[in-house]
Amino acid sequence: MLSLREIQPQKNEVYLDNNATTPVLPQAIEAATHTMQLCYGNPSSSHITGIKAKYILETTRELTRQVIGAKTGQVMFTSGATEGIQTAIISSLNAAKQKSQSIKEPVLLYGATEHKAVPESLKHWNKMLDIGAKVLAIPVDERGILDMDFIATHVPNALMICTMIANNETGVYQDIELLEKTIRQYNQDVFWMVDCVQALGKIKLEISNTTIDYAPFSGHKLYAPKGIGILYVRDSAPFTPFIAGGGQESGLRSGTENLPGIAALQAVLSLLNDHDDPTFKSTTQLERYREQLTDTLIKAFPDIVFNHDFSCSLPTTINFSVKGLTSKDIMDLFDAAHIRVSAGSACSSKVTGSFVLDAMGKPKWQSESAIRMSFGPATTQQEIDEACVAISQAVKALQSSCLILSDTADNSNLGVDGLQQWLYDNGCTWCFVDKASKQCAVIDLAPELVSKFETLVECQGYEVVAVLSTHIHEENQVHQNIIQTLWHKDQTKYDFLGWPQQTSLVTLENGLTVEALNVGNKVLARLPLPGHTANSVAYLLGTSVNQSLMADSVDFVFVGDLIQVNGLGRCDHIDGDEKSLYQSLQLLNQLIRQDTLLCPAHDYLQLFNTTLALEASSQPLLQQVIDGDISEQAFIAEKIKQDSELPPSDFSQYCGSIAQFSNIIEPVHPNQLVEFIQADPTTIVVDVREPHEYDAYPDSMIAGKTMVNLPLSQITQFVQRHKSQQSDFKYVCICRSGKRSEAAAKTLQRNSFANIYHVPGGFALLNKG
Ligand code: PLP
Repeated sequence: MLSLREIQPQKNEVYLDNNATTPVLPQAIEAATHTMQLCYGNPSSSHITGIKAKYILETTRELTRQVIGAKTGQVMFTSGATEGIQTAIISSLNAAKQKSQSIKEPVLLYGATEHKAVPESLKHWNKMLDIGAKVLAIPVDERGILDMDFIATHVPNALMICTMIANNETGVYQDIELLEKTIRQYNQDVFWMVDCVQALGKIKLEISNTTIDYAPFSGHKLYAPKGIGILYVRDSAPFTPFIAGGGQESGLRSGTENLPGIAALQAVLSLLNDHDDPTFKSTTQLERYREQLTDTLIKAFPDIVFNHDFSCSLPTTINFSVKGLTSKDIMDLFDAAHIRVSAGSACSSKVTGSFVLDAMGKPKWQSESAIRMSFGPATTQQEIDEACVAISQAVKALQSSCLILSDTADNSNLGVDGLQQWLYDNGCTWCFVDKASKQCAVIDLAPELVSKFETLVECQGYEVVAVLSTHIHEENQVHQNIIQTLWHKDQTKYDFLGWPQQTSLVTLENGLTVEALNVGNKVLARLPLPGHTANSVAYLLGTSVNQSLMADSVDFVFVGDLIQVNGLGRCDHIDGDEKSLYQSLQLLNQLIRQDTLLCPAHDYLQLFNTTLALEASSQPLLQQVIDGDISEQAFIAEKIKQDSELPPSDFSQYCGSIAQFSNIIEPVHPNQLVEFIQADPTTIVVDVREPHEYDAYPDSMIAGKTMVNLPLSQITQFVQRHKSQQSDFKYVCICRSGKRSEAAAKTLQRNSFANIYHVPGGFALLNKG
């Protein structure tokens, strides 16, 4: 385990994720430390040490009242906004329990773009307290502004309405006055909670001049530490303690107060309240920062789209998407360049959009590729200047790896030679490039990756020889439409899988002659292999001699869903057929070697490729086919049984049965890496991040050695080239967090590479000083 002191920020880190959490101001750290060291008393103790602690508690409360404009009402300290939200909801629902009898069909209203803490808590407590209300999202318009007509219609039946001042993903703020007018015109008594988390320090608040019943705040969004929050409760609002116990906070919230957190909050609020202090910047200054950042972004990404209207957004949040780049591409690039931003959508292999942007009706691609950049009200000019330099630098790496186009970069000598694999939602797009001839072919191109491919083609000046699919499900014509409309101008010259009419012929290992086309000096042969669907084909890529493509010369087979990594394609689709699958497997077995690399259309396990030998060792059914030990009838019966046990298919999820796979990779922990290399200087440290990440920050040395870049997207090509010439060298794979390095290490080890290690925690935990 790394010691705490070994966990350090990276050099020149640019932090632009203040809406997630802010750094803690030095004054707040000093206040918390002082309190822990010298004023550690319990505010409930009646001795002098306790009285001092109580003084800190009460003066902070008084200061909070001034800052949020709460002349009346209760102000209590909580652990954070989520606790404040629970308290407000429980208080409202408890009181509404009686009321619900008078409302026939009670509803609980919340803004469609609220932080998840709000709808999730509403649903939870509605159920737990047996309220039986309908939980309804208030729609927003394309700017993210709440629909007043909807509120007017539904608020008469509402037990509670929850809205927010400013949104955490977009910074879009609501017109609270108009909202109040609408709510109160139609319902004087409804309990109204306003989430003020993102507004504190950015928008002037006068809470007692409103009819807001509950207002939660969070310290860690405004330069105080995590674990401290505030809840304002209007005098007339009902209250039920969420935490009962020793009666602290006048019985409103039991538990010994987080005094260091409260002291830190006091330090922050004092600065905010002191208008002569330069720490917190004026709105005009913050708007200038936004302009500087957006100018830099527009120069860096000419195709940028901002996902919100700046005229109704806080200046500190910039949410954008770039056509052709996924949020993962940008996140990975920025993180590698030591710039911290956040993705609107989750960055897992399963792509999800941002529910906030979805609610605003943004197109799917914008929602799925959104990036949020947020600074804070105490950000300095120097930080913004540094951020702009870092962004401009980082984007050059994108241009040189052809993820975006540039007028100036010369990419003619760059680019991959061979096979690349791009993953989208567990689907694999395979792109083969012959660098010498600049010809390329793409197989099973995901619709979402079309722009990326187009950019690459234009940037590198490739000639696209073929855009192919291995199969098309009757119900899923997306691929076909894309192929037909984008690349095949004269559609009569291609079949529905993108295969051209004009082809040559090659003879395969068993004497079978099939159609083929050339990609540079390689040949791509088409082999019908039905079973998963009736139209399924495989493409064999290799080197032909005298119009023959023998098993030894096949480099890769794009098998579609015939064979998965650790599974066989399912046959229980409308046009699937077990008998054909059996025959296809037999045929494939005659044409390639047991260790020829198979490139599937899906990769659920992040293992990238497989072989007949690997599959046979994990799937007895396939082993039996290969050994000729199973009859067609017996195969069909067993396959039907196996498929019937699968969860329902939804194309991107289950195109076949996938067995679990685990091989243990020996770890080299980040704090052991230098020593490990010094103990064996022949060790090769392999950075498996993508080229744009590798290039984003010029720092590829470790223990006096240069790390080698083997992008995960090129690992199948690497395996194919190096399988037969293995050395005794130790390979240590590393990436940003340890996830991709583990996947790379597993893939190499699975393909019989020896001496493979990886660095759990990756660059995130590697303290390079
Ligand atoms: N509400 C909003 C708008 C937020 O941005 C957040 C935090 O992301 C929360 C509530 C939850 O705050 P806390 O982390 O203090 O529980």
